[in-house]
Amino acid sequence: MTSTLLRGRTLSFLRWPETVDDHPAWRYEDDGGLLLRNGRIVAAGAYADVEKKADEGAKKIDHRPHLLLPGLIDAHAHFPQMQVIASYGAELLDWLNTYTFPEETKFQNAQHGRRIARLFLDEVVRHGTTTVAAYCSVHRESAEAFFAESHDRNMLNIAGKVMMDRNAPEGVLDTPQSAYDDSKALIAEWHGKGRQHYAITPRFAITSSPEQLEMASALCREHPDLHMQTHLSENHAEIAFTLQLYPKASDYTDVYEHYGLLGRKSLFGHCIHLSEREADALSDTGSVAVFCPTSNLFLGSGLFDYQRYRRREKPLRIATATDVGGGTNYSMLRTMDEGYKVIALNGEKLNPFQSFWQLTRGNAEALSIVERIGTLDPGSDADIVVLDARATPAMRLRMETADTLAEELFLLQTLGDDRAVREVYVAGRAAKTDMAIWLSHTSRLDPAAAIGQSLQRS
Ligand SMILES: [Zn+2]
Repeated sequence: MTSTLLRGRTLSFLRWPETVDDHPAWRYEDDGGLLLRNGRIVAAGAYADVEKKADEGAKKIDHRPHLLLPGLIDAHAHFPQMQVIASYGAELLDWLNTYTFPEETKFQNAQHGRRIARLFLDEVVRHGTTTVAAYCSVHRESAEAFFAESHDRNMLNIAGKVMMDRNAPEGVLDTPQSAYDDSKALIAEWHGKGRQHYAITPRFAITSSPEQLEMASALCREHPDLHMQTHLSENHAEIAFTLQLYPKASDYTDVYEHYGLLGRKSLFGHCIHLSEREADALSDTGSVAVFCPTSNLFLGSGLFDYQRYRRREKPLRIATATDVGGGTNYSMLRTMDEGYKVIALNGEKLNPFQSFWQLTRGNAEALSIVERIGTLDPGSDADIVVLDARATPAMRLRMETADTLAEELFLLQTLGDDRAVREVYVAGRAAKTDMAIWLSHTSRLDPAAAIGQSLQRS
């Protein structure tokens, strides 16, 4: 039984930090140790104590002076949109029709799906993210490709085949029955296989007929342990169109409510323009509002009112996410930087400890998987990111005047990106290093991977 002993500055949260001085909210070790065995963290604490628990042959890796945190979590992204990201000049509905739907038709080709799934997970890990809640395309093959890649890497990911049967081109449509059948088959094959989680994924009310939302409802009833993910209240034109399509609904949230789609494992992307009634309905059911700042700014959708949602009498459970390719960066550090600015435009602040809580434990709690990921507690899966606050000349210079952990974290969020990610452990395996070695091998064997690499470099 081989084990790994990591040394570095460790930071893990126990609860939401009220202020930057709320020390009981986190556990920080200046000289910390993590003992990893069989993909799990088996001991954590001061290095001297953890070292005593390590067996003779443990592989020791010294990451000092870098920070070791739980792997970052992205609660909403679209893997088929890697070649949609950075598409110019449209708001949500035009952006879907002009760029996204045509691109997603390519995923009927299983080989294309496999290539993009591979490059997507490479990119996500390279940015320090170890878990993502992903939308696939409408094609069953795209979800097969995603799960196969995810399972090969032993990543804990949540994903689902998108259900959509109207208001989109033929090449990205299913039917209520085929969506049900394909989802059923994918759940049977992938949910609970290794670390894979299936999410029932109706894209949103505009592209699902009432008959299809009925099928999504049936799937949720038949599999109450599964996640459900969709979009809600992102953009004014979207809201107006939805209410035309569902004239009996009192508001947008009521559409999903009517089909029983609200609940503690339901993830609603965006939730920007909610009425008080809608926010109450989400709160009453423990549903999760997913904040996607880079996407909301890029598409001009609006400003998610994070602090008001959190503090209202009936608070919302909140997760944060990239929403690639409406979102403009794979990095959760970049995402929280933009999130900070959106919150500032609402006249509020999010302090650096709250931000890093959100990226790790907060998102794990919102996804109801905190018993597995999001902390460095013994018993957790060994998904870990190593962050370097001196990764670039500008960061190194600014660090000369940073005296506190809070300042270092804020600098990482404000200036950091993939360059600040020194290493990533997925279930105890050094995924960033291994990936570089793996890519150097596969590039000789697989022309598709080689093209991906040259794209990444240029
Ligand atoms: Zn989205």
